Amino acid sequence: MTDEKTTDWRTHAPCLDLPGFERVDGDDLWPDTIAAANAKAICRSCPFTIECAVDALSAGTPMDSIAPTPADDTIRAGIVCTGDDKTRRALQAAIEGRAYRQRAKRPTHCTQCAVEMCGTKTSSDPKIVPHAGRGICARCKQRNHYQTKKETTAA
Ligand code: SF4
Ligand SMILES: [Zn+2]
Repeated sequence: MTDEKTTDWRTHAPCLDLPGFERVDGDDLWPDTIAAANAKAICRSCPFTIECAVDALSAGTPMDSIAPTPADDTIRAGIVCTGDDKTRRALQAAIEGRAYRQRAKRPTHCTQCAVEMCGTKTSSDPKIVPHAGRGICARCKQRNHYQTKKETTAA
């Protein structure tokens, strides 16, 4: 097969010459601008999202000559591409027609006791407790476990 289809999507893409798809140097607010939101909306109705996402997987500036790097500082297939592994996973999900779910961010404080939490397994500071998962600290997890055990034994 020739590059006809590849050429076709590039020359017929609805984003051609439209603003908002590329980050302008120094514009750190770009992903949150109206222009970027409009760009993502255009991608949502674009018939070439798969071709575009496949191309974007290796459209970045490679760190070395071997590994392809995902696109950076651009919106492709509705994804704000930042040239990293998160971009690669989001593009891959778009290619496979899956919704890409970003991992939830660890809360900074325990949702049960409000103590400050860290992302490491141990902490040398007694005021900072490791995050045990699901938004609660290791101390609360242990307390909950103990409480459940006590209730089960009493029943
Ligand atoms: S998916 Fe978005 S960036 Fe890609 S060709 Fe379509 S409109 Fe352009
Ligand atoms: Zn807690």
